[in-house]
Amino acid sequence: MKQFKVDKVLHYINGKFVEGVSGRQFQNINPFTNQSINEVAEGFKEDIDLAVAAARQAFDNGPWRTMSVGERMKYIIKIADLIEENAEEISYLESLDTGLPISQTKKQAARAAENFRFYAEMVKSRLVGEAYQVDQSFINYTIHKPVGVAGLITPWNAPFMLETWKVAPALATGNTCVLKPAEWSPLTANKLAQIIHEAGLPEGVFNVVHGFGETAGAALVAHPDVQLISFTGETKTGSEIMKNGADTLKRCSMELGGKSPAIVFADADLESALDAVVWGIFSFNGERCTANSRIFLQESIYDQFVDALKERVSRIVVGDPMDEATEVGPLIHRKHWENVKNYIEIARAEGAEIISGQIPESCRNGNYVAPTLLLNCTNDMRVAQEEIFGPVMVVIPFKTEEEALRMANDVKYGLAAYIWTSDMKRGHRLAHAVESGMVWVNSPNVRDLRIPFGGSKHSGIGREGGHYSFEFYTETQVIHVAVGNPHIPKFGKTRKA
Ligand code: NAD
Repeated sequence: MKQFKVDKVLHYINGKFVEGVSGRQFQNINPFTNQSINEVAEGFKEDIDLAVAAARQAFDNGPWRTMSVGERMKYIIKIADLIEENAEEISYLESLDTGLPISQTKKQAARAAENFRFYAEMVKSRLVGEAYQVDQSFINYTIHKPVGVAGLITPWNAPFMLETWKVAPALATGNTCVLKPAEWSPLTANKLAQIIHEAGLPEGVFNVVHGFGETAGAALVAHPDVQLISFTGETKTGSEIMKNGADTLKRCSMELGGKSPAIVFADADLESALDAVVWGIFSFNGERCTANSRIFLQESIYDQFVDALKERVSRIVVGDPMDEATEVGPLIHRKHWENVKNYIEIARAEGAEIISGQIPESCRNGNYVAPTLLLNCTNDMRVAQEEIFGPVMVVIPFKTEEEALRMANDVKYGLAAYIWTSDMKRGHRLAHAVESGMVWVNSPNVRDLRIPFGGSKHSGIGREGGHYSFEFYTETQVIHVAVGNPHIPKFGKTRKA
């Protein structure tokens, strides 16, 4: 495995890599060793103010939003090319920083480049309006304008891919941006800044301020010159951001937590269902918003399916994230590891049977949680209701379709759901009835970039992806033009003086 050098991470403001105003920094910790990887400049309100001022200036006076769409897309495509050229380094940095297995981060880097190419194409075809001729006198038409300075706040799980999900449509539509990446995963956000710098975007169009949520993140949300906030992260943070953004009337997009069900019926293709649910919870170390963290198994297949789950869990390859063979790596941070371990203790206290895989001795210094099944569970247990965000699967039996649906919906979240049955009428019926933004029927979690992504209930507000991101990052303006001799009521002309 080729290794790449990691320097101190600086903010990227107005086209330059700079130290923070306070001069403070924080340590970035490797989840495999719990040793420091590097130092990161710590941003506060003063740094956010500088970044927003640069973005504002670039929006108001720079060429970015006024240049032709074709010209702007050349920059966007250049970013995609550079991501592909740097893919090996990006996946290395991502695995080093987050503990995600290298075989999985490689796919994420490729997907990130696709995000830029996709929005370059979409914006070319959608930056056109509608036009209506009202009658011989009037034409009404619409145009789509960038909104202004976009504040982008992102989480540490799959950080590079999730950042590009926001940065690509925000920039392609002509906005300028300030990105506040998660404090536990700064490396690939820094690489994105280097790539965008190399692509030659005008100064101030794209800015990154590193730092913590309560300081740098909160300052970005409260800033009066930031028009919109696109947020991905925990539900309670999303709620806090909406409150703090209310005074300045922020346009908000919220991609939040999940506790997604997979319902497996006795008539399903059980081998495919098994492959998909095991991958769905244990890939990305279980730190995945759409993870199928609650599995509902029809009673008649419960024992057989649980035996197969136990077998798989015992054989999952837990190891060094840099090893191509590793399927599950260490969790992002010691604090998160403590949370996940604590949930396993809660499960024990709630009466669950706990089945865990193996952690090799070579991983003793990392934040490892072995792939875990929680059996003998009921849907009202805390471990079935709260997002654990680790490699932990809650398994619950059901008798009837009605019972499965009731339990699937009996949770505050509504992000994703997975249905496994060979009865397609039932598949559609349940897909319509389940309370979630996305449903997969007899399918693992795959998504075309043209299709929206997002959750209902406490899992989010709005949709990202496809033309939904285009709508979010643009302001639709309506223009009414008189082209003939319109009738205009003549107030003040009829009453005699
Ligand atoms: P988090 O909410 O703790 O942090 C996310 C980001 O918000 C970080 O950059 C953080 O610094 C910032 N932040 C924290 N407090 C803030 C505040 N008061 N003001 C402004 N910014 C603030 O989330 P996390 O732990 O990084 O990520 C994991 C969560 O993200 C999980 O709940 C997961 O389900 C969710 N997630 C959702 C999706 C989705 O698309 N629905 C995708 C990925 C992750």
